[in-house]
Amino acid sequence: MHCQCVHEFGQPLRADHRPDLTPQGTEVVLSVTAAGVCHTDLHIRDGGYDLGHGRRLEFAKRGIELPRVMGHETVGEVVAKGPDAGKFDTGKIYVVYPWIGCGTCATCVSGEEQLCLTPKFLGIHVDGGYATQIRVPHPKYLYDIGSIPPETAAPLACSGLTAYGALKKVESTLKDHALLVIGAGGLGLMCAQLLQALDAKAPVFVDIDPVKRASALAAGACAAIDPSASDAVAQIHAAAGEAPVAAIDFVGAEATAELGFNALGKSGTYVIVGLFGGAAPWALPLIALRSLTIRGSYAGSPGEFSELMELARNRAINPIPTTCYKLDEAETVLNSLAAGKIVGRAILADA
Ligand SMILES: [Zn+2]
Ligand SMILES: [Zn+2]
Repeated sequence: MHCQCVHEFGQPLRADHRPDLTPQGTEVVLSVTAAGVCHTDLHIRDGGYDLGHGRRLEFAKRGIELPRVMGHETVGEVVAKGPDAGKFDTGKIYVVYPWIGCGTCATCVSGEEQLCLTPKFLGIHVDGGYATQIRVPHPKYLYDIGSIPPETAAPLACSGLTAYGALKKVESTLKDHALLVIGAGGLGLMCAQLLQALDAKAPVFVDIDPVKRASALAAGACAAIDPSASDAVAQIHAAAGEAPVAAIDFVGAEATAELGFNALGKSGTYVIVGLFGGAAPWALPLIALRSLTIRGSYAGSPGEFSELMELARNRAINPIPTTCYKLDEAETVLNSLAAGKIVGRAILADA
């Protein structure tokens, strides 16, 4: 099999050729038909996150071993299964749930595998989908894509699920209040689709890029605001008809966290999803005085993925724009993503 591999943090990916994968125990091997390229992959290739104040989270010290095949948004067809994989339909095309935990701790047993303290995430802690084959530890992580095209289904495992998991955290507000969405990249556009599928009020978007603002409006936003405007907060309030009671920040930069915080209404909830990096810019007393909830959201649970795939198979979500590239172009695609030149989602799909 062929794969595109991180051999050294901070260095370009390299093409590797390895023996075909052989499944053991409950494992399943898929032939990859589509692999989404995610912003997280930039951080993995670079070896860490900027935590602000000159600090850095180093993956090398967090148990991410090299070489590593990235890719956690994978669709494929079953080519082999281990002796204990049990009976399941091997003729379907599946998207893989990648946020796999140990399976035995209290968090995993409660259904929140994505929050396990000893994660085995595909494409991060174990090899993923930037390859012609992927190994999945159990068929329960395979979700039928129905008639959804593979390149559309692949990003559901990450951007789709991440947007859905974030929305679930403010679900009670969505019918009656316009959600503030910061960032109209792949995640933000997916969020806009899901809001429509959930019959939510039209959201207010913020993005620095006029092209992305136009994409947000096309995806159902009631307004798309330029955060560099001196009256951006007033524009957000006018568009939402109030100070928003919930905001999701798909960027996670100091500037977006400051704007979102300033725009949020009293007792509002600020959900941080994006991992751009930096330090919290907020005055601590204001968090108490305004009774705000600031929380994070990371991916989503297998149960949430099941709900999301149901929506997707029922065509409740329109496809987000995707562009397909060859597996061998992975490094170029990552560089384009780093330069902010990808609208929607880039997919590696050789078929
Ligand atoms: Zn991702
Ligand atoms: Zn666990």
